[in-house]
Amino acid sequence: MASPLDIVVVGAGLSGLAAAIQCALSGHRVTVLEGAKELAEIGAGLQLTPNSTRLLEKWAVYQNINGPCEPATCTVYNYKGKVLAHEDGFDKNNRRKYHAPFADCHRVDLQKALAERAEELGVSIELGTRVTAMNLDADGKDGGNAKRARVMTTENGQVFEADLVVGADGLWSTTRSAFSGCKDAPLPTGDLAFRIVLRLEQVEDERLRKMVKEPGVRFWIGPDAHVVAYSMRGGTMYNVVLLVPDDLPESVARIEGSLDEMRGLFEGWDPVLTQLLECVDRVDKWKLMHREELASWISPQYNLVLIGDSCHPMLPYLAQGANSSIEDGAVLGLLLAPPHFTSSSQLPETLELFQQLRKTRGEAIARETFKQRRDFHLRDGPEQQERDELFLRQLGQSLKGAFPSRWTCPEVQPWLYGYDAVKEVETALAQRKSGAGVDMPQL
Ligand SMILES: Cc1cc2nc3c(=O)[nH]c(=O)nc-3n(C[C@H](O)[C@H](O)[C@H](O)COP(=O)(O)OP(=O)(O)OC[C@H]3O[C@@H](n4cnc5c(N)ncnc54)[C@H](O)[C@@H]3O)c2cc1C
Repeated sequence: MASPLDIVVVGAGLSGLAAAIQCALSGHRVTVLEGAKELAEIGAGLQLTPNSTRLLEKWAVYQNINGPCEPATCTVYNYKGKVLAHEDGFDKNNRRKYHAPFADCHRVDLQKALAERAEELGVSIELGTRVTAMNLDADGKDGGNAKRARVMTTENGQVFEADLVVGADGLWSTTRSAFSGCKDAPLPTGDLAFRIVLRLEQVEDERLRKMVKEPGVRFWIGPDAHVVAYSMRGGTMYNVVLLVPDDLPESVARIEGSLDEMRGLFEGWDPVLTQLLECVDRVDKWKLMHREELASWISPQYNLVLIGDSCHPMLPYLAQGANSSIEDGAVLGLLLAPPHFTSSSQLPETLELFQQLRKTRGEAIARETFKQRRDFHLRDGPEQQERDELFLRQLGQSLKGAFPSRWTCPEVQPWLYGYDAVKEVETALAQRKSGAGVDMPQL
């Protein structure tokens, strides 16, 4: 790259590190500012779907994740334990259809593998560096017209200058507020998650131990609630998330949960699940939040772009928050690569194209997560019976048409998992070069 950009990424989460990697591969000088003092175990398990694992493989990151588990089965039970949907060979089917794995891992293992790769590519990751303010109207380099951004931090009071700031600071984004000029706080979705990580040694029952050791994805769906469970770290850990109506006070986003309360909420559910919950010795309670859609993800000065949860947070019901954030980082970095990108003067058209490709998809996925909630959380009654009949009519057969679990739905799954960021960028650039309009992403 003859004139590399100075890029400052705010946040060393999954979107920020993905953007850092692809921007460094495109030849830019990248600094990542992270408020946390270390990349610690925040959150728990993550399901990685082929739309992001194909990027992680391309970046040589996937290979360095600690013990990803590819689930051999995907099963939906009703809350009493009756099988509503089941797919054998889920791992192989994903690889065959999408040429990339579906895999479950611990969030911190992915974050560390991404950070390692970014540093190998020359990215500087500044931990303990919380961004507090930004000036998007600093003077251009060498008196040029483009406005540079100045990013202010606390702790040591350092100021960083950049041609482009990437706001990847998550749900509680400071860059989003600096950019929109108002503090629009995240909104409650009405649900919360009890997050549980079980170590194999906590589980004594042989049948349950087999569930941990032999990876499969399991859902239990019931009135106003559902549960998802899967193995990680080579089958030595089990991640369980219980999704229920939110009863946390408005001001509380996360607290340690009560085991009795948690077990009480699932009384009368499938005995396999309730037995599993007996093994739990600690649970965290997370309010699930989202945000209003923004009019734009890019600043009028074309020196700030938002990605990931800062601009399209969603319910975790399709496991797409991180996966779609990784797509964002890849598309951004690929659009900033030579030969099509050679100078900062191309930032306006490049960021407009980024927004055109990513905003529609990110927001559509977020809306789809709410549809999955509706289908999974039906109360007992005619709608639930109709849904279960739709499930059961296709049990043991190859699925056709819209299906209540989007995890295997033949209409939604290809749209989510089949997305190829590299192809998307190549096609858009070819269309732009030929003078034809760029197609909007398929919905
Ligand atoms: C219960 C639950 C289960 C989930 N399961 C899945 C799943 O299976 N699959 C999936 O794809 N997604 C899942 N998600 C969603 C996923 O975790 C998020 O969408 C994803 O982490 C978003 O990545 P991000 O980089 O945008 O933000 P984050 O991961 O939140 O990272 C933001 C980073 O910015 C830093 N930061 C914040 N403010 C500042 C500042 N001012 N200065 C410097 N640094 C700052 C933070 O410390 C953090 O490191 C789940 C979410 C929940 C709640």
